[in-house]
Amino acid sequence: MKLMLQKGTVIWMLGLSGAGKSTISNLLEAQLQTENIFSIQLDGDELRKGLNKNLGFSMEDRAENIRRAAETARIMAEKGIVVICSFITPLNAHRTIAREILGEMYFEVFIDCPLSVCQQRDVKGLYKMAGNNTLKNFTGISSAFEKPENADLVLLTEDQTPQQCCDHLYAAVSSRVTSLQLT
Ligand code: ADP
Repeated sequence: MKLMLQKGTVIWMLGLSGAGKSTISNLLEAQLQTENIFSIQLDGDELRKGLNKNLGFSMEDRAENIRRAAETARIMAEKGIVVICSFITPLNAHRTIAREILGEMYFEVFIDCPLSVCQQRDVKGLYKMAGNNTLKNFTGISSAFEKPENADLVLLTEDQTPQQCCDHLYAAVSSRVTSLQLT
């Protein structure tokens, strides 16, 4: 889009809680800023505070969570914004929903980290709660997570630093997000 001097796209980060989606998204956003590329982050926690606050964690509600997120991302990306989405997106069916809504704008990134490492990190203390059953329907513990088969990029966060992961990601998406030149 000429006003934005950039092309919109959607970088869809998926993976278990604690895998590193938000950490890498923050780094990517900072990197894009240095290139004068405007991006917006959308994530599950944020959307569930407002737009999606009537949704729970059944598979139907998770699908609806993803549908609304993808529709929101579509509106922004069509206006030239780089949208970085961080959603667990646990089932292949959920990824299909996002891919169908976003078409060619959709770039899927699997933030891959073993469940045991996510549990050790336990950034938000949720694995502990899921383990002692005070939190139900928790992905990886009491709710399914299917390993993605069609991701455009896989980032292994167990043995790399967040910055290394961000560097791989930026290299993979840079052609999609390059600023347009004024003619
Ligand atoms: P998510 O958004 O997927 O729930 P977070 O980004 O909130 O996960 O948490 C990931 C945690 O793992 C952070 O504490 C981060 O510092 C740590 N971490 C260690 N290595 C990596 C890596 N390579 N990429 C991303 N996060 C990492």
